[in-house]
Amino acid sequence: MNDPSTAGPAIALAGVNLSLGQGAARVHILKDIDLHICTGEAVGLVGPSGSGKSTLLMVMAGLERTDTGTVLVAGAMLNKLDEDALARFRGRNVGIVFQSFHLIPTMTALENVAVPLELAGVADAEARARAELESVGLSARLDHYPAQLSGGEQQRVAVARALAPNPAILVADEPTGNLDEDTGRQIIDLLFAGHAQRGTTLVLVTHDAGLAARCGRVVRLRSGRVEPGQ
Ligand code: ADP
Ligand code: MG
Repeated sequence: MNDPSTAGPAIALAGVNLSLGQGAARVHILKDIDLHICTGEAVGLVGPSGSGKSTLLMVMAGLERTDTGTVLVAGAMLNKLDEDALARFRGRNVGIVFQSFHLIPTMTALENVAVPLELAGVADAEARARAELESVGLSARLDHYPAQLSGGEQQRVAVARALAPNPAILVADEPTGNLDEDTGRQIIDLLFAGHAQRGTTLVLVTHDAGLAARCGRVVRLRSGRVEPGQ
């Protein structure tokens, strides 16, 4: 496992501002964000609803572009990449887990994990996908479609999909928000195991203070700004 205190930055944001929406509905969401997350760190991202947590996660994942500032993730300056390069970057470097699972309903569990690996040009995509699904306890569910799986099982597939490419960073946006407490804890354990075993940098958005405390550091957002002292 990497030692966060000596490793370089996995994520470095400087002077980031981001607005979304058009005309009178335009909202200034992220304000003057400077944030440094070391390789191998686990960071809990907390703050009130609407404070910009999901938007900030999407910036780190290369799914949302900023208006100003620089976004350095896993050695790539995301604000300099075109859409194709950004898509390739995401496929190789970023694992994402959403609250609502976001599996592709027309694909089996195995296909949901294997297809993104194939698109990223990974050899043995299917064998890798099987192994990842096995490691989240789903070897008996490979050929099931998402609608045939429980919420917890669907989120396990999503975790397997996120970890399969051995991404540099793993971001999770309230990954237990749709699950009961026991099931949610199992999902969190899988995310932390992936982080610990692979040295993956983890950014976890959560409402749960206890969960945030499991991370090495907590970053608090308020009205689109990082609260000082972090
Ligand atoms: P959080 O995840 O902390 O609840 P979000 O990042 O989802 O916060 O949203 C931050 C703010 O940005 C909210 O006020 C939300 O309404 C606003 N917002 C999010 N997406 C858009 C959008 N596409 N257009 C306009 N405003 C948006
Ligand atoms: Mg959110």
